[in-house]
Amino acid sequence: MKTPQLLNYARDRWIAGEGTLVELPSAIDGSPVAATGSGGLDFAAMLAHARNVGGPALRKLTFHERARMLKALGQAIMARKEELYELNYATGCTRKDGWIDIEGGAGTLFSFSSKGRRELPDAYVLLDGQLEPLSKSGAFVGQHVFTSLQGVAVHINAFNFPVWGMLEKLAPTLLAGVPAIVKPASPTAYLTEAAFRIMIEAGVLPPGAVQLIVGHVGDLFDHLTCQDVVSFTGSAQTAMKLQSHPIIARESVRFIAERDSLNASILGPDAAPGTPEFDLFVREVCTEMTVKAGQKCTAIRRALAPAEFIDAAEGAIRERLANTKVGDPRAEDTRMGALVNRGQREDVKAKIAEIAAAGARVVAGDPEAQAGPDGGAFLSPVLLRADDPWTCDAAHDVEPFGPVSTLMPYSDLDDAVRLANRGRGSLALSMFSHSPEAARDFVLGAAAYHGRMLVIDRTNAKDSTGHGSPLPVLTHGGPGRAGGGEEMGGIRGVKHYMQRTALQSSPAMIAAITDQYIPGGPKHVVETHPFRRRMSELIIGDTLQTKSRTVTLEDIEHFAHFTGDTFYAHMDEEAAKASPIFEGRVAHGYLILSFGAGLFVDPDPGPVLANTGLENLRFLTPLYPGDSMRVELTVRSKSLKSEDTGVVRWAVEIFNQKDELVASYDLLTENVP
Ligand code: NAP
Repeated sequence: MKTPQLLNYARDRWIAGEGTLVELPSAIDGSPVAATGSGGLDFAAMLAHARNVGGPALRKLTFHERARMLKALGQAIMARKEELYELNYATGCTRKDGWIDIEGGAGTLFSFSSKGRRELPDAYVLLDGQLEPLSKSGAFVGQHVFTSLQGVAVHINAFNFPVWGMLEKLAPTLLAGVPAIVKPASPTAYLTEAAFRIMIEAGVLPPGAVQLIVGHVGDLFDHLTCQDVVSFTGSAQTAMKLQSHPIIARESVRFIAERDSLNASILGPDAAPGTPEFDLFVREVCTEMTVKAGQKCTAIRRALAPAEFIDAAEGAIRERLANTKVGDPRAEDTRMGALVNRGQREDVKAKIAEIAAAGARVVAGDPEAQAGPDGGAFLSPVLLRADDPWTCDAAHDVEPFGPVSTLMPYSDLDDAVRLANRGRGSLALSMFSHSPEAARDFVLGAAAYHGRMLVIDRTNAKDSTGHGSPLPVLTHGGPGRAGGGEEMGGIRGVKHYMQRTALQSSPAMIAAITDQYIPGGPKHVVETHPFRRRMSELIIGDTLQTKSRTVTLEDIEHFAHFTGDTFYAHMDEEAAKASPIFEGRVAHGYLILSFGAGLFVDPDPGPVLANTGLENLRFLTPLYPGDSMRVELTVRSKSLKSEDTGVVRWAVEIFNQKDELVASYDLLTENVP
């Protein structure tokens, strides 16, 4: 039977690559799964299509519309996930490994969809931080804003997460309103192509939003501009080659690099054999060695233990690894499948030899044994031990991208910190300790070198998401050796595909430009109480102006005795006068808030379900007995929480009889959409 050829998706058409094709072998038996190639593609035209068709179409959608699109893509993947699981085995992965890639990928789309609807406005511009006053009168202000880049995101992915790797980059990119060209790593491109096809067939993406290259990228880099982003995941070697392309430097093309990483896990000085932390450490090291056959950028490559516990740690890890069944990933009792192909296995074996030559010895597993069916890329988990971690340079420098870890002793916490940092920058580090002092010293000494750190102990282990799992809501990336890039991290990840601009103008102008309410900007005074309208009927800038009420000395005294808040400034005229702040007794801030609510609240049940909090509260001008107060309540932003509830952010401004601002805050309410 002829090997199926993978197709490229260029300019909204499926196209077979021309010329020489590369055969992609199955990890299980070496038989060809697919052939791939991108010869004949017009890469410049693909970039132009993304810029001229995909970008404008995506930028016409608001953040919320794009977020809904991500959800539909995630649902499409989930509806056809079994097709992907079937292909997943050929990559050497068990079903459990595939779950991280396939359902983890869809989960990332859902997470960004939900964050997009909750944390971004239903608009095109994202405000960054608060308004900066730039003049005394308030007529000239500054506001940082993010707008979508007008280029293309080129995503170059590693082989180990063919689905998640694509989706964790696509989710923030599409949410930012930027089109993408995806280039999967060849060894597992058949699984990426299948997931990509599902998204195209779902029919929810505008034309030009995504394209796929299965093969080399030709002269693509020669046509990049300052509006493009290259987001790369793979080895340090390839990253360096691509990053030093002259166009990247000349055009200041953004380059996000996620490279290899010598991640460490530390057994705390307090975590002696017999403690829960010791057992948790042993379990985590073994899990990280065997999940996806250790082909995870975040896997624990260096396990550090106090010198006095290292023999016990080695014994416990060996025992656990001995019970890990390696073999055909389709078999139910298999715990660890194969490496992606035999070439990868040879690479891992060569790197084990390099670490051994630098002074480590193999204490578990046999790199030369065929650990599974013939023809497959099987390797048993291999634990190395380096008794002098300061002379075994390779243990801190060479990444065997497979089921391999090196166990090393440390003398004290300071030594552990310095050894952890010897990886010259990593993606993830875990510490197993129940000692807050040790954890504090360790994190302060090491955090600058590590992108994500977990401190695991008996109280949180059950709920822990694990050393090796990057999460959509947390940043993924690390300094130095790890590439210096950052991905995901919720809305932080979206901003990598947007430009921050410092905008200076009047509040009214900035409100018009950003389509959002800006304090000091125009308001539309409404007659119908906004609490009587559903969220969809509220317009940003709609303002309720209340009548005013006078605050008397009796009110202040009543409030003081009723609540027990008899602070001197409200009760003692002489002391209040003597203070550098007040001219006499003043109303409580809490009284002002309560009277404010009494002025603007519309009491009957309706679309406003509950008050869920106040933010950015400031008391700006004292309110004295005899002063009056009134409120302006303005719709500031709206976001959906679920299909049935939403959150409205209201700007609340309380003025006195001289129209001076007495207090201001954001009120959050839960509303019927
Ligand atoms: P790789 O060999 O560096 O390849 C990475 C990607 O670069 C692949 O898509 C590859 O395509 C592409 N590529 C290679 N040469 C290129 C060129 N001249 N122009 C354009 N693209 C080119 O890495 P890998 O073997 O796939 O992945 C394993 C490595 O990735 C490990 O070192 C691992 O630590 C690292 N990794 C890091 C992360 C992270 O988030 N930091 C995640 C996963 C993996 P072809 O396959 O077609 O050559």
